[in-house]
Amino acid sequence: MPSEQVLTELAADRAAVQARERAARRRARAAASPYRRVWVAALAAGQRTVSGTLAGEAAREWARSRRASQAAIETAMAQGAARGELSALRLLEAAGLGRGEGQVGREVVAELTAEGSRLSRLLDRRFADSGVGGPEQVGRLLESGFADGLSPQEVTRQVLREVDAGVRSTERIARTEMMRAHRETNRSVFQERDGVTGWRWVVDESARTCAVCWGLYGEVYPTSAEFPAHPNCRCRMVPVLDDPEADRLVAPDDKNTAFARLSPEEQRQVLGPGGYDKWQAGTGLDEFATVTRDPVWGPTAVRVPNSRL
Ligand SMILES: [Zn+2]
Repeated sequence: MPSEQVLTELAADRAAVQARERAARRRARAAASPYRRVWVAALAAGQRTVSGTLAGEAAREWARSRRASQAAIETAMAQGAARGELSALRLLEAAGLGRGEGQVGREVVAELTAEGSRLSRLLDRRFADSGVGGPEQVGRLLESGFADGLSPQEVTRQVLREVDAGVRSTERIARTEMMRAHRETNRSVFQERDGVTGWRWVVDESARTCAVCWGLYGEVYPTSAEFPAHPNCRCRMVPVLDDPEADRLVAPDDKNTAFARLSPEEQRQVLGPGGYDKWQAGTGLDEFATVTRDPVWGPTAVRVPNSRL
């Protein structure tokens, strides 16, 4: 069982992370709102095809939406990094290593957002001409909707659903990259500190944590290894210390002990009905997760399908 001080910090960090996620989502939505308004106005004016002024305006706002989204995501990442730095220093302090200096968050964000980085690749894909909710997709819906004789209300509904799906996907990038900045800053602080040999995967011990993350709970990685999170993953890391006494203060409980504290309904919610039956029949929690390399997101934890358990 980790020390009281460590548990307090993890709880404080979880609350801080959730607040930053909400802020990241709000910013991502705000970045997209002028673009959304273009379509609302066009539909209100009864436009049935995308050409001339409307095409130009949509393309301009789409490009502006990309820049605003990027700025929103970078702000979220800076906030994630600042919080990640604080939590890493507090965890080291709670383990008796002394608080020490951080000052690495800014460098971490600069690296993660640089030209050619994963973030710019994600945004290139998100804001491609054919991206979800982009002018090309919306134009097609608008034209085919009217050509098929749908009512203006129905076309409006379809168009806004498409645009909003795009906004949600930007929100997902913002939340995921905010957490990445948080964890990469944790890791960077740990890497620079004597006595830290690695990091451990920690989850919120709840029914909202997915089977993949429960499966990886407590796994130990060297500080050179990036956290192989999945999109929207909220898991965090604690340091692994070479002094066993200090390490006991930060090490989480065994995943099976922790999972046993959930109610059977919660366990079923985490594993899904099929997975729950497998687990009951003896499949270990760690068999539910594996790490693959996603071409866009990088090392990513994924669920092992029930058929392969
Ligand atoms: Zn997770």
